[in-house]
Amino acid sequence: MERRDFIKTAALTAGATLAAVDLLRGQNAPTAPAAAPAKRPVALVGIATAVAPLAGPDLPKVLDDMQQRGGVNAVFPFVYNHNQDRSGIAADRLRGGNFAIPHLQYYKDTNFTYDDMRAPDYGELDLLATVIPQAQRRGMKTYAWILEDNQRPPVAHWEPLYEIDFHGRRTTRHPSGPCNNNPLYRNYLLGLVEDYARSYAIDGIMWGSERQGGLFNAIGAYHGGARSDPGQAACFCEFCLKKAKDQGLDAERARQGFGELEKYVRAGRAGQRPRDGYAVAFWRLLLNYPELAAWENFWVRSRNDLQADLYKRVKSVNPALPIGWHIWHNVSFSPFHRAEMAYAPMAAYSDFVRPVLYSNCAGERIKSFIASTGQNVFGDTPPDEMLRVLYEQLNYQEAPYDQVAAAGFSADYVQRETKRAVDDLAGTSVQVWPGVGIDVPVAAGTNQSTPASVKADVRAAFAGGATGILLSRNYIEMKPENLAAAGAALRELGVG
Ligand SMILES: [Zn+2]
Repeated sequence: MERRDFIKTAALTAGATLAAVDLLRGQNAPTAPAAAPAKRPVALVGIATAVAPLAGPDLPKVLDDMQQRGGVNAVFPFVYNHNQDRSGIAADRLRGGNFAIPHLQYYKDTNFTYDDMRAPDYGELDLLATVIPQAQRRGMKTYAWILEDNQRPPVAHWEPLYEIDFHGRRTTRHPSGPCNNNPLYRNYLLGLVEDYARSYAIDGIMWGSERQGGLFNAIGAYHGGARSDPGQAACFCEFCLKKAKDQGLDAERARQGFGELEKYVRAGRAGQRPRDGYAVAFWRLLLNYPELAAWENFWVRSRNDLQADLYKRVKSVNPALPIGWHIWHNVSFSPFHRAEMAYAPMAAYSDFVRPVLYSNCAGERIKSFIASTGQNVFGDTPPDEMLRVLYEQLNYQEAPYDQVAAAGFSADYVQRETKRAVDDLAGTSVQVWPGVGIDVPVAAGTNQSTPASVKADVRAAFAGGATGILLSRNYIEMKPENLAAAGAALRELGVG
C-alpha cells in the first residue's frame, strides 16, 4: 500500500485520527471523510539535522531514512554554524561557517569577507545546492536553519559584533552573543537571509537566538545558569547606548544597578543570605534600580526589532517564503523569560514559531534552573518546594524534585506548552510547530527517550493544536527506533 493510501485509509477508519485531522483543518471544521484527505493541508513534519549526514555520498539514503522512518517532509539543516554538534564535525577538525556559498553582493554593509563566512570543511560542497534537488525529488522541503553560536566563532571579524558588558568588556560566549543593535551583526544577518532567499530554492528560514537580557543572565535564570558570570551582564556597546538614550533610558543608572546586582548574586553564591531574605533583597534592587528591568526589556525589544527586520527583508524578496523562530527551552523553566516571550506580539513578524519542548531533558534542565536561581532570587525556598511552586506558576503536573531528572517531563507538558502557544496566537496565521525532542543528550541517570515516550510526545503536540512538528534536536542524535516511533505516531494520526 502506498503511504498516501495508508493515510487515507487510516483517516477514514480511526475516530482519533479524524479528530487529529480536524485539528489541522481548524477546530470546528465539519467532518467530511470522503473529501477530507485531499483537501487537508499537509502538516509540516520537519527534522533538524547536522550538516555531516547531508554532506557525503549517503545523502540520498539519509533523506530516504528521514522520510520513510520518520515520516519527515521537510529537512532543516544547521546551514551556518561553528559548532561540533550542529556540523557533525569533530571539534579539533572543525572550522565551520556557511555551508552554502556566501554571495558577496548581499554582505556589502558588513566587515566579513568570503573566507570569513564560508565553511571550508567540505571543500567545494554547497550544502543547499546539493540538498534541495534531492529533497525536491522526494517531495521534501528544505528550510535554512540558522542558530546563533554559543561561542564566538574563531574568526577575527566576529569580535566587534559581540556585546559589551557593564564593566566595558567585550563578551565571548553564551549567555551573551552578538549584539542585536550592532549594525555589523544586523547587516550580516539581513544579508544572510536575503542571500538564502535569492540564491536558493529554499522553502523557508528558521532563525534562533537562545538568549535573554542582562538582568536575567546576571541572576543565572536559565538551565546551566549557575555558571553565569554576573559581571558580564550586557549590552553596553556604543549602539545600545545610543539607541537607549534616544528612548530616554538611563544607561548610567542601569550600570550602577548591575554593579549592585553582581554583588547580590556573588554573595548568594557564597551562601550569604541577605538579612531580609533573597526575594526581598531582589525586589528592593528592582525598586532602587528600575533601570535593570528597563534594560532587560530594551534587550528583548531590540531582538524583536531585529526579527521584524529579518521578516521584512525576506518578504521583500519573496512574500510567500516563510520565516519563523526557534524558541529557547528556557521559556519552559523560567517564569522571568516566559514573561518577556509572549507569543501573541510575535504575530506581527512571524510565519511560524518552534517552541523547544524536549521532554526527556526537561527534568534535568528545570533542576538546573532551580540550582542556579536557588542561590539568589529563589533562595528562600528549599529546591523541592520551589519546584512545586514553579509547576503551579508554569502550569505543569510533573514529577517531584527527587524524581524529575530520571522521569523527565511527560507528554502532558508537551501538550500544555503547545496549547499555550496555540491559544496565544489564536486568530493569527502563525503556525505552531513544536520541537519534539528525540534522544536529546543528557547526563547519566537522566531520562532517555523511548519509542513510547516519543509517540506520546508527538501525539501530545497535535492534541495541543500544533499544525506541524519539528523532530529535534538533531538527526545524528536520534536512535532509529525512536525516529521510527515518531513516524508511526504520525501515520496513526494521519499527519504529514
Ligand atoms: Zn549592544
